[in-house]
Amino acid sequence: MSVTSREVHLIARPVGEPAPTDFALVETTLADPGPGQVLVRNDWISVDPYMRGRMNDTKSYVAPYALGAPMDGGAVGTVIASGDDSVPVGASVLHALGWREHALLPAEAVRVVDTTAVPAGAYLNALGMIGLTAYAGLTEVAPVREGDVVFVSGAAGAVGSIAGQLARKLGASRVVGSAGGPEKKRRLVEEFGYDAAIDYREGDLEKQLAEVAPDGVDVYFDNVGGDHLRAAIAAMRDHGRIALCGAISQYNATGPVPGPDNLFLAVGKRLSLRGFIVGDHGHLMGEYVRRASGWLADGELRTEETVVDGIDNAVSAFLAMMRGANTGKMLVRLTG
Ligand code: NDP
Repeated sequence: MSVTSREVHLIARPVGEPAPTDFALVETTLADPGPGQVLVRNDWISVDPYMRGRMNDTKSYVAPYALGAPMDGGAVGTVIASGDDSVPVGASVLHALGWREHALLPAEAVRVVDTTAVPAGAYLNALGMIGLTAYAGLTEVAPVREGDVVFVSGAAGAVGSIAGQLARKLGASRVVGSAGGPEKKRRLVEEFGYDAAIDYREGDLEKQLAEVAPDGVDVYFDNVGGDHLRAAIAAMRDHGRIALCGAISQYNATGPVPGPDNLFLAVGKRLSLRGFIVGDHGHLMGEYVRRASGWLADGELRTEETVVDGIDNAVSAFLAMMRGANTGKMLVRLTG
């Protein structure tokens, strides 16, 4: 059973903020799965900030997207034809060929997931790479210790909304977060359990951070970089730890971006600043998923998804996420 499918191609390398014209929705036909292959109908696909980096032709920890070819990324789908007994028709699977309606791929490149106990989207959010990023950052990269004050930027997003809650579970005495706009600021406190929040669009981050963390910060989980990193360095207590997770304020930059001009404070304060990539922390996945599944089941870990429907809206979902239209994880739903 061959299928007609649509997939999103990158057709031009964006300069600055990507434009819809940098992408094309292309129709294609996929063949029957051969031996050892499966044909998957994607139900959910993920759009993530790291994809912006892959749109550039620069060397990184992950290969750039090729021009004129489908982009890829996380997806959860249903097997509709199978050439491998270990992954039967009807199975829900997690895999890496997102940005398309259907995927033909080796059975060994998919992981069968249980979507009866948890919604499929959770595997692209709290029970997947997103949740593990928050957990690895706060346990191995910049470990939270009992009584710490923790600051999270990008706090209303996918990683950030989980990081704040995990910080508390790991022993933080005070957790503060930063996000864009009054509504997100409100939700950080009322829905995601932050003790206090900053709307960075109100400006003077250093002053705002001093107000919500008057005794300083022990652990900073940095999703944003730039001014946020500068303000955090100013607020850090001696021996503070900074997990450099991302720098989304710079992803659309068209030239080199200077580092924080107060970095020298890290010397006197004996700070550790450590970058990390979630893929290097896969050994934590089992432990994390066990703990997070329990917290999700008993309502102690709250997650949110912002859902956009249809492959034709996948690019606009990505662009909207980069501009902050999401709370929690931005996902594209292709079926159902
Ligand atoms: P989010 O769900 O947080 O979405 C991106 C958010 O970034 C937007 O909602 C927006 O929120 C915020 N944002 C956009 N531009 C700016 C800006 N100029 N200044 C401040 N905030 C901005 O995405 P993720 O949770 O998936 O990713 C968060 C960060 O973590 C990213 O930097 C990403 O690259 C990084 N990451 C790193 C990983 C690793 O292995 N190191 C793995 C996964 C993610 P707002 O409305 O608040 O502005």
